[in-house]
Amino acid sequence: MKLSINEATALEKSNLVKDLELCEKHGYDYIEIRTMDCLQDYLKDHTIEDLAKYFAEHHVKPLAFNTLCFFNNRTPEDYKKILDELRQMCEWGKAIGCKTVITVPTVDLKKVTYEEIHKSAVACLREMGDIATQYDMRVSVEFIGHPAATINTFGQAYAIIEEVNKPNVGITLDCFHFHGMGSSIEDLAKADGDKIFVVHLNDTEDFPIGSLLDEDRIWPGDGCIDLDEIFQTLKKIGFKQDVVSLELFRPEYYKMDPDEVYRIGKEKSLKVIARNF
Ligand code: ZN
Repeated sequence: MKLSINEATALEKSNLVKDLELCEKHGYDYIEIRTMDCLQDYLKDHTIEDLAKYFAEHHVKPLAFNTLCFFNNRTPEDYKKILDELRQMCEWGKAIGCKTVITVPTVDLKKVTYEEIHKSAVACLREMGDIATQYDMRVSVEFIGHPAATINTFGQAYAIIEEVNKPNVGITLDCFHFHGMGSSIEDLAKADGDKIFVVHLNDTEDFPIGSLLDEDRIWPGDGCIDLDEIFQTLKKIGFKQDVVSLELFRPEYYKMDPDEVYRIGKEKSLKVIARNF
């Protein structure tokens, strides 16, 4: 099992250049690139070709782009912007060899039924999947384990991508989000492992279901999530991606030296990985 890190983990004191160096130093195999800030900042004084060259000459490789935000139940104007953003990410992906765009559902909608959410999400993802196909890219839906998110459990997300039924549209299973709204392990056990494109590894403090926030994330293995149960189930359903990606958003860790975050993050992640894979 290979290890990736998401740039959100050491966000405030680092940047893409530094993150890449730290991946090399600590032996991370992959990195998830943040398109909304880290990549934009990088492109102020680099080109996408510079980044492609870096990946060609180093061990670390790009795992996915984060994040194409709020794709479903949008106005036609806003949805058009999402598609433009997707095309841009696909262009970048083609240039640097990154195969996956992670997209998250819309949050804070008032009074939209499950049916309306499902219908919109399926229609959008079919179109997004078609666009991504032109670039040989994948779209991976990350459900968000919070009541304000329109798609907030594994079961709900899986029903959507099952209906979309495209080989390049799948799910990002973030362990924190899986726990966040009490997603069912039975739903995961019934799923096709090939539909899980990305796994975000993390843990959380034991706050009640439905009240968890990203800042509650802690080092994998230090919290209350049954990571072993999730990983054992992933193995049973034939998850074959051979990589998991550490993703934390903890303000305390943002204050640390990024070098320490990368070091501890790897140590904690490998412990969880070693007992499961
Ligand atoms: Zn995540």
